[in-house]
Amino acid sequence: MFEVRGFAAPQAKAPLVPFTVPRRDVGPHDVHIEILYSGICHSDLHQAHNDWGNSIYPMVPGHEIVGRVKAVGSAVKKFKVGDYAGVGCMVDSCRECESCKRDLEQYCLNHTSFTYNGTEQDRSTPTYGGYSTDVVVEERFVVKVSEKLDLKAVAPLLCAGITTYSPLRHWNVGPGQKVGVVGLGGLGHMGVKFAKAMGAHVTMITTSASKGADAKRLGADAVLLSTDAEAMKAAAASFDFLLNTVPVSHDLNPYINLLKLDGTMVLVGVLTPIDGMIGGALMLPRRTIAGSAIGGMAETQEMMDFCAEHGIVSDIELVDMASINETFVRLTKNDVRYRFVIDMATMPG
Ligand code: NAP
Ligand code: ZN
Ligand code: ZN
Repeated sequence: MFEVRGFAAPQAKAPLVPFTVPRRDVGPHDVHIEILYSGICHSDLHQAHNDWGNSIYPMVPGHEIVGRVKAVGSAVKKFKVGDYAGVGCMVDSCRECESCKRDLEQYCLNHTSFTYNGTEQDRSTPTYGGYSTDVVVEERFVVKVSEKLDLKAVAPLLCAGITTYSPLRHWNVGPGQKVGVVGLGGLGHMGVKFAKAMGAHVTMITTSASKGADAKRLGADAVLLSTDAEAMKAAAASFDFLLNTVPVSHDLNPYINLLKLDGTMVLVGVLTPIDGMIGGALMLPRRTIAGSAIGGMAETQEMMDFCAEHGIVSDIELVDMASINETFVRLTKNDVRYRFVIDMATMPG
């Protein structure tokens, strides 16, 4: 065991403070990564605040990690010292169940070890995330990062990227389809970039009129203001696929009404109960609502390679580690264009 510097939430809704993070010694299959950048996902805020009621403290958030390989175990094949590497939302799973065998470790039937606010496979050792200087992760849960991409803007791909890429792929989004992305934040702006790169006609559906020009710059063909009831009515029954990234419970009915016959809306944002859904709107015409969580490790590598091929990264604002509490407040206020990333070189000594 060795100790590294980090920041942790000591309890729900308390400010994050400096924290000494224990890391395990590098085992034969482990990769030791010096963290260079760590993205700030809205899930970090939800979990630090115990919005989902399952938080474990002290909590070191962060599951959008990129860095440089510092050491590798004797059996590691994919990485060598000096390589760039990424770690997302998971650091382990049982590897034997039906889901793990299908490379869907995020749906492990036994126990997914999430990168933070979780436990290792022993179900007792806490996991600590990327708001820290170093991490040690088993090779299967580390992805290769292309040197062609801007490293600091790569970090958000590890969660915001894969969470939007995976459902777009699973539901076969492509040319000839009309796709809407609901919510222009960290996930939403990646959803727009991916759906466009996959060849779909993309509409950004936003509550913020001020984000319209940006949505076009990110690749959207059209912008729909969800607060404009007339515009929403005019767009009724016109979408094949909607990717809904809204982080809180909200009225789904106006969005359901945008779907065509056999259209699907996939929820990736809201985890809490949703009231008031009108069953009839799902039946006439036949429509589907579904959910999706991040993506498996093989697909995360595929997404990284897709980004390298298409030159896709996140639009980010680099922030200092010590400003984390102010940055969380800005994220709460929807004051982000479109992902905050911590420069780990600013970690206080
Ligand atoms: P974010 O950067 O804060 O973006 C969320 C966007 O949703 C906002 O920019 C805003 O866009 C819109 N929005 C916010 N409040 C709204 C409201 N009350 N009604 C309608 N729209 C609203 O958040 P994020 O990091 O993208 O994360 C989004 C959600 O996904 C979070 O709940 C996070 O926990 C979850 N998540 C899920 C997974 C998964 O595996 N399923 C993975 C990562 C994150 P406009 O201004 O354009 O309206
Ligand atoms: Zn996330
Ligand atoms: Zn499993």
